[in-house]
Amino acid sequence: MSKPKEFSSMTKDKLMTYTFIALLILAVVSYLSFGVESLILALVSVGVAVGIDILFSKVAVDSPLNIMSAAVFGLIVALCYTLGKPTMASVEVMPLIAPGSYIFVALISTIGMVLFKKIQGIGGRKFVNPAAAAKLVAMIPFLNTVLLPSDHMVTGNLQMPALAGPIGYDVIGGNGAFSFAGYLQACFASPTATTYSSVYDLMLVQKWHGWVGGISSIAVIIVGIALFVIARRYIKWRITVSYLATVALFALVLGFVYGDGDPLLRAIFHLFIGSSIFLAFFMATDPATTPLTYLGQGIFGVGLGILTVLIQTYMSFFGGSILALVIMNVLSPKLDKIGKLKPSTETKEPKLPKAKQFTSVKTYDCIRCGACMRVCCHKLSPILIKQAFDKQDVNTISKLSADYCTGCGHCTFVCPARIDLRASVLRAKAMLRGQ
Ligand code: SF4
Ligand code: SF4
Repeated sequence: MSKPKEFSSMTKDKLMTYTFIALLILAVVSYLSFGVESLILALVSVGVAVGIDILFSKVAVDSPLNIMSAAVFGLIVALCYTLGKPTMASVEVMPLIAPGSYIFVALISTIGMVLFKKIQGIGGRKFVNPAAAAKLVAMIPFLNTVLLPSDHMVTGNLQMPALAGPIGYDVIGGNGAFSFAGYLQACFASPTATTYSSVYDLMLVQKWHGWVGGISSIAVIIVGIALFVIARRYIKWRITVSYLATVALFALVLGFVYGDGDPLLRAIFHLFIGSSIFLAFFMATDPATTPLTYLGQGIFGVGLGILTVLIQTYMSFFGGSILALVIMNVLSPKLDKIGKLKPSTETKEPKLPKAKQFTSVKTYDCIRCGACMRVCCHKLSPILIKQAFDKQDVNTISKLSADYCTGCGHCTFVCPARIDLRASVLRAKAMLRGQ
């Protein structure tokens, strides 16, 4: 047996298992409301994703089996699907009820796994969130309906209310004001949502006709925070915080500008509609497609919040947070360059997580959690140095001050993908010295 090695107890598989359990809890919550249809939706999506993962592991070189990651992806696809219960008096964009919903969720799962997880991954990193991008691709035949405000608004095909005007609990009348109560009654089947507390109850406790995973905002918040606490070093919760804070602030400003009846009403809508709250906790934090640095993550969250409110307000596309997410994902490589710590020759001892001994060490591709950048005692960026070293890019290695590395090994210790960063950084340092 090989000699045991010490690492932090977190591995990529463990991280995926925790995320899967969190999503499973939300799937059960949605089952309690939507019934068996939401459960079948999840089974179809997860089944397709895992099946494709197994198939690729058998036929493609360099595509290791990663069942838990595929299962997490499948559950996210199912939970960000819209189930139209009760149906609204509007044209359907994607099939909102079974069996059409099962076929569509299988299609999104297939597109996401093949195009955005497997093929996109060949390039070494993923640029867009696979579930969000796959849903947008599946919407291509309907993009004119979804993205053209004239088709989407109350006078158009989809009969969506316009938020670009004053909103109130009830019909304000005459001036094109948006009746929040009217919308809730039509969309969320709530004939009683006409007061502050009833609207709050509805948006927090149980909604209908929206993203399956966001049916209960309170469940998403509790499960999401529990996951953040358990995996706080590895999950980019700062994106969630900055996103939700931006959405709330921007909505308050718009409420003031448009003279809403109640200034909080608009914020409640934008924050707790299923597409925003579920995305905030379970999609916006996807490590692979978001910035590595804390400042980059903050800017990412702010940009995501502003775009989401703009799309929901001026395009009446209430699931518009996925479009906002894909746009911000594309900007991630630029945001990676903002907020890197300044390398220092001084040694600062980091607080390390608990150690665990492993006899067999399974390695993965970098999941871009950024943990290695936070524990380096010289504030280096080990993963960026490794990437530069792999490309033999001496200039970047020099700019990233690889020569400050003292080989402490903290970066390798915390890495959940078990990449030997220490060895790469020391080799990069040797390369610099050899110049
Ligand atoms: S081994 Fe080098 S790069 Fe890694 S944490 Fe220590 S000093 Fe930083
Ligand atoms: S190399 Fe760094 S960013 Fe990548 S998985 Fe390991 S700790 Fe996370």
